[in-house]
Amino acid sequence: MSEPILTLKDITRQFDEAGHKLDVLRGASLSIEPGELVALVGPSGSGKSTLLHIAGLLERATGGEITVDGTRCDTLGDRERTALRRTAIGFVYQFHHLLPEFSAQENIILPQMIDGVSRSKAKERARDLLAKVGLADRATHRPGQLSGGEQQRVAIARALANQPRILLADEPTGNLDEHTAEDVFALLKGLVHETGTGALIATHNLDLADQMDRVLEMRDGHLTALRKAA
Ligand code: ADP
Ligand code: MG
Repeated sequence: MSEPILTLKDITRQFDEAGHKLDVLRGASLSIEPGELVALVGPSGSGKSTLLHIAGLLERATGGEITVDGTRCDTLGDRERTALRRTAIGFVYQFHHLLPEFSAQENIILPQMIDGVSRSKAKERARDLLAKVGLADRATHRPGQLSGGEQQRVAIARALANQPRILLADEPTGNLDEHTAEDVFALLKGLVHETGTGALIATHNLDLADQMDRVLEMRDGHLTALRKAA
């Protein structure tokens, strides 16, 4: 077995809302290996987004241990967490979160330049990634000039720009019609297997969940493995 690329151990997350304590995560644990595509399912409000934001080092847990690519993250300071997030983690949101005033290509170039890649190298990689997601001819389009499915393809390309070890996606097809969702998911799956990155993908779509290597269900703040339909 290879080393896990992402390990969460006994993650807790408590929100304090106007003096009322809400325990959303109550000891959630998981481990993902390189090349594995894992589905995260569970009712709305069960804590899927909260877990993904914690795994993506976008938010801090109340307790528990996070290890990304061999580095313990829960004990790191903000600066180190930001650096690790930039290099090791790709994140895809339900709504693309692309920068509206920049072209598709610029949206993929920027995170690379922030990571110290030269503009020419970043541009070359952006072109490669756009070709991989089938949008070579949309490089200069701004997000507002793209369809929902195309926006998500660009968001996926951007998430892969810095060759992350782990890809996290929060209902990446939740905003798309059924057919487009299938297409975007197929693309995501192909890229995960091609690049050997690990992936954790929250979805409401049980057909898509079934196409992944494993399915984890969030319930009562815990994660449990679901048996896949045969
Ligand atoms: P899911 O993604 O599974 O629908 P979320 O992780 O978005 O669930 O939310 C889980 C629960 O945590 C919800 O009850 C939500 O209201 C609550 N929650 C999420 N973020 C916050 C926050 N910043 N402050 C207070 N409560 C929150
Ligand atoms: Mg959510």
